[in-house]
Amino acid sequence: MADNDGRRSRTVDLRSDTVTRPTAAMREAMAQADVGDDVYGEDPTINALEAEVAAMFGHEAAVFVPSGTMGNLISLRLLCGEGEELICDADAHIVSYEAGAAAAHGGIQTRTPIVPRGLLSAEVVEPQLRVAGYHAVPTTALAVEQTHNRGGGAVYPIETLRDLRALADSHPLTLHCDGARIWNAHVATGVSLAEYGALFDTMSVCLSKGLGAPVGSLVVLKDGDRAARARDVRHRLGGAMRQAGVLAAAGLHAVRHHLERLADDHARARRLAEEIAAFAPGVADPAAVETNIVVLDLAHAPVDTAGLAAACAAEGVLVSSLAPRRVRLVTHLDVDDADVDIALAAIRAALTPR
Ligand SMILES: *Cc1c(COP(=O)(O)O)cnc(C)c1O
Repeated sequence: MADNDGRRSRTVDLRSDTVTRPTAAMREAMAQADVGDDVYGEDPTINALEAEVAAMFGHEAAVFVPSGTMGNLISLRLLCGEGEELICDADAHIVSYEAGAAAAHGGIQTRTPIVPRGLLSAEVVEPQLRVAGYHAVPTTALAVEQTHNRGGGAVYPIETLRDLRALADSHPLTLHCDGARIWNAHVATGVSLAEYGALFDTMSVCLSKGLGAPVGSLVVLKDGDRAARARDVRHRLGGAMRQAGVLAAAGLHAVRHHLERLADDHARARRLAEEIAAFAPGVADPAAVETNIVVLDLAHAPVDTAGLAAACAAEGVLVSSLAPRRVRLVTHLDVDDADVDIALAAIRAALTPR
């Protein structure tokens, strides 16, 4: 893995963009951070981060939280009451990787249409909506994931999101964006963060994915009046922190310095897919790579996920499993061109046994 300080360790870690380590410049920003007790609202670095990120999305407020999982849960608690219903796609992070948080801590029922690459549409959602009534469970919130993780980093077209917003307005229904990687969507499409922000009531955005901060997400709120309740829910979940400005400083550094470079991650992901498709046709689809995630389809390959992962690990290359014959590769701040070369050699050897 390319090291931030120029040292090279053996491992090329393509499991996730969560694995990045803070750069020297980020660590310096953390060391210099001005801090205070955030439970009293007195951490100037957290306050600055919240204001800056809210402004990027054109929203009125943002609340710093320890994880994207907590960001999603707080947002959904604001939008969807106990015994009410959330619609999200069947592969959404919210229902796949959050340990049942919405159900366990929110009493929220979910309905989960199965849609290609995880991308919902107004046509799919509209027939699913239910209103309150005799024994009925009212659908009060809809969540989209931009970009879609299990969907291979797929980007919602802005037109699809506008249609979903119009549907939400006509019902009424609230709209949440799990924007863990919305930064990647912005860089890939050129659609501004504010254009995306205008469409959502709440958003959860991660600093600790491609942006490279060690910790942290924000709940971003179109309506600033919701911020006090968001802070209450955060406190109840044990997510209120004290002098966490050292963490917020990493986040501020990330949004200021690591946003545009996501294009490099996208180019490397595309290169991975193109070269794998060349030596193993059908395994990778370069046209499906829109951001920093590559999905390998091993349905007709000589190895399954466990076999590929083991062969790659022996060469110091780590990949993650989506299914017994589906593998995920993720590019990020700690993967450079030489790492891509190493990964390609390992994958090639595993997929083209002699
Ligand atoms: C990573 C991720 C999250 C949040 O994960 P945490 O590990 O809790 O920070 C939420 N949604 C998506 C789509 C993600 O990829």
